[in-house]
Amino acid sequence: LTPIHVIGAGLAGSEAAFQIAESGVPVVLHEMRPLRRTEAHKSDGFAELVCSNSFRSDDAATNAVGLIHREMRALSSVIMAAADRHQVPAGGALAVDRDGFSAAVTAVLRGHPLITVEQGEVEGLPPESWDQVIVATGPLTSPGLAVAIAELTGEQELAFFDAIAPIIHRDSIDMDKAWFQSRYDKAGPGGTGADYINCPLDREQYFAFIEALLQGEKTSFKDWENTPYFNGCLPVEVMAERGAETLRFGPMKPVGLTNPHNPSVKPYGIVQLRQDNALGTLYNMVGFQTKLKHADQVRVFRTIPGLEGAEFARLGGLHRNTFLNSPRVLDARLRLKAMPRLRFAGQITGCEGYVESAAIGLVAGRMAAAERLGQSFDMPPVTTALGALINHITGGHIEVVDAGPPSFQPMNVNFGLFPPLASAPKAPDGRRLRGPEKALAKKRALTDRAAEDLRVWIASQ
Ligand code: FAD
Repeated sequence: LTPIHVIGAGLAGSEAAFQIAESGVPVVLHEMRPLRRTEAHKSDGFAELVCSNSFRSDDAATNAVGLIHREMRALSSVIMAAADRHQVPAGGALAVDRDGFSAAVTAVLRGHPLITVEQGEVEGLPPESWDQVIVATGPLTSPGLAVAIAELTGEQELAFFDAIAPIIHRDSIDMDKAWFQSRYDKAGPGGTGADYINCPLDREQYFAFIEALLQGEKTSFKDWENTPYFNGCLPVEVMAERGAETLRFGPMKPVGLTNPHNPSVKPYGIVQLRQDNALGTLYNMVGFQTKLKHADQVRVFRTIPGLEGAEFARLGGLHRNTFLNSPRVLDARLRLKAMPRLRFAGQITGCEGYVESAAIGLVAGRMAAAERLGQSFDMPPVTTALGALINHITGGHIEVVDAGPPSFQPMNVNFGLFPPLASAPKAPDGRRLRGPEKALAKKRALTDRAAEDLRVWIASQ
């Protein structure tokens, strides 16, 4: 069998290479370290954890990342096996001894009879003789390869920065205060004229909010993050620093909207939220990319009327991150439409996090191996954590047509990516559940459904 080439021995590339080799297909794994390092990697080991040593919650019953851990274990993930072996105490989280973890992954891959490791940077498009390639070069993909990919996709389809506005679970927004309306009731392509959720602030609330933004604790940029890419997407607190009224003439402008809960009073400022996924379960805060620390984002954004109980699917941020506009440029099997011999995996596809990157590597590796072996491969059902995450990347996200940075943003796995349940869970005595009890029952029902659907899917493979 001709080998499959995997570029990048990070979280995704290591997992993909292992899955391919375990399917009986040879792999050449290309890694540029130690000859060339990224700005964040410090070691020469595979699957280096560049920052925290946590794989987050390990609770598969009520947490989406815990659920994806369980699914990956069921699919013989090398990343999960090494993490379990090198676990350190961290309450309900799965945290690891990072050196032991990386050394374990490196040893398994280097010792695998079907994996050949080639040291060196792939500086541009892979040669045509590599008929199947997985590109897993991560958020800090080396510039030569990144530029070559951007030329293939069109520059606007490869981002070099994450300018993320917080994303909120729709069912945590108080619609007794907020309302649906597009500015001037404009119905764009596919729109209804009531596509945005609007949260009104009166004069006092507006100035208190600006003050809170200014006082909030910010994360600072690393030197290598200071590039001109930011000009189009200023953090909201930087806009506030330019003047207390600046936001009222920017993302918080109160024009073209009428509050149906109080039509006679004109809001002083309005925060708009835009649908973020096809399911309509997630909404992003329009124009609210931010460098506020996570705890302060939760505290400050919950002062906005209607968002007092907001549950955040992800918080805002701004950092270097190379990622594709995957829903547009990748096919359903993670292959580049413009050059299908290139399949992508890991954070470059628009997932976020160690675990998610490895999860996409796992599925990409299995898909590539099946293709090489001439076997069919069904995608994991969208009701599983793996399937929900891939669906977000390849198709579940709606394209938004108005101006601003690309609307597709990298995402951690979360329950907002799952199709809703057919019916709301009830208490064993048939009682209607409310509040936190209802939220917990919903999570349990989603993870039960995922477990059953994964079981059926594995049996059918
Ligand atoms: P990586 O793990 O980065 O692997 C990519 C590999 O490709 C690297 O080994 C690199 O050397 C190699 N490579 C790059 N270009 C080439 C080339 N042209 N030729 C050959 N090899 C190449 N996620 C979390 O869950 N928790 C965190 O705390 C966290 N902190 C982060 C901090 C920073 C500074 C960054 C940038 C990201 C962080 N992430 C974090 C996000 C993300 O989960 C990790 O970056 C994760 O490692 C991504 O996995 P990956 O496999 O896609 O890429």
